[in-house]
Amino acid sequence: MYRSGLRYKTLKISLTSILLGFTAQSIALAAPVSDIEFERAVKMLSDYIKVDTTNPPGNEALGAVFLGKILASHGIPYQIIPCKSADRSAVMARLPGNGKKKACILLSHIDVVPAQKSDWIHDPFAGEIHDGELWGRGALDMKGMAMIQLAAFLSIKESGKHLDRDLIFLATPDEETGGEQGAQILVKEHQALFKDAEYLLNEGFSIEVDEQGKPKYWGVDFAEKNVLWLALSAKGLAGHASMPQANSANNRLVRAIARLLDDPPPQRLLPEVEQYLTTLAKIQNISPDSDAFKKSLSLDPLKSSMMRDTISLTNLKAGYKTNVIPAEAYAELDCRLLPGTDREEFIAGIKKRLADDSIQVKILESETGNQSPADKEDAMFRAITKASALDSPGQPPCPVVPVVVPWSTDSHYFRTLGIKSYGFEPVEVDADHLATMHGKNERIPLQAYRRAIGRMIDILTNL
Ligand SMILES: [Zn+2]
Repeated sequence: MYRSGLRYKTLKISLTSILLGFTAQSIALAAPVSDIEFERAVKMLSDYIKVDTTNPPGNEALGAVFLGKILASHGIPYQIIPCKSADRSAVMARLPGNGKKKACILLSHIDVVPAQKSDWIHDPFAGEIHDGELWGRGALDMKGMAMIQLAAFLSIKESGKHLDRDLIFLATPDEETGGEQGAQILVKEHQALFKDAEYLLNEGFSIEVDEQGKPKYWGVDFAEKNVLWLALSAKGLAGHASMPQANSANNRLVRAIARLLDDPPPQRLLPEVEQYLTTLAKIQNISPDSDAFKKSLSLDPLKSSMMRDTISLTNLKAGYKTNVIPAEAYAELDCRLLPGTDREEFIAGIKKRLADDSIQVKILESETGNQSPADKEDAMFRAITKASALDSPGQPPCPVVPVVVPWSTDSHYFRTLGIKSYGFEPVEVDADHLATMHGKNERIPLQAYRRAIGRMIDILTNL
């Protein structure tokens, strides 16, 4: 695990010295990743980060061409698929298997969220290595995962082995703003490309570690919550602020929102989430019914969001001058609903708790999530579980646990085609690094990156 004393000490290390440092580590890897493969993977990620695919506007065609060149240099045919426009393209390549089983898609998104260079310690688009970590926007979300997939894809190609399934490498535009100009178009207009696919492996959960950086469990997300964005507005009389109005638009909206937030949606445990929490308690050697465990969950925003529908107050807008009571007050809520929550009932519950009929509630965005089977006997779970066992020979394997995530990815588009889609990145991520995704100073420890490539090769081989 990263030690805070060293965290920001700038130390440029040449690639060769890093590789030498990692040679000894490679002995413990399940699928061996040679120094040459690792060096290549580090260079691929560094160069990929340098391709600025900040969305908006995206410019993902630059990334698609970059990936196409790597594929071509390994003799792998690829196709560039323009989505909304030529500058927003996807890239796809197929590594044929022996045809015994249906194909598996390795999905990634090419775009990244914006990064403000002045906020960062190192240039977010330089792909530099400092203190054994590769820095840059997308290092974790998700150019890093894309390169883990691609490195495994190339290693399997070079091994000359034919797996039971074709592997489809697919990188798409526009995930970070909802996928309407990327995955949605592919699924609607190019679904023939994926007609033989049974599985999809995408970004999502990863390997949670303890305080010492030791893996606790491998979390595989099989379901995402549904997105529901609501706008609330209150109207009233404008007036001079020297003569207060008890029922001004501002006052009514603030009171109503306070009632809503004071009465959050109740806990509702999906059977899979209950199973996840039981496993978590077992790992921590604590009773799942103990107050200490329940308290630790309530203090963990990620885990508590898996246990209920959630409401976040995000935008609040009203007023333009200190001495004027405005005629309108406006707010936006980002709600995330667990699979199975009825949207209309949820909205009715919100209105009831606002307890003010004069406040208008309007839907801004509603996305229906979906889920894939969380059956541990399913081939994907078995493949990941076997990879976990290979990862720690001679020791009890790290448990593999299905999880529901509160965020949304492109997986939901592919689930509509009947493709079983899972979010799992075989890389250890601690809380410090998790916070850098969509934040500042995003980076991936190279040691973890190397292990992840080995694990990805194992998973795909097992599958
Ligand atoms: Zn992402």
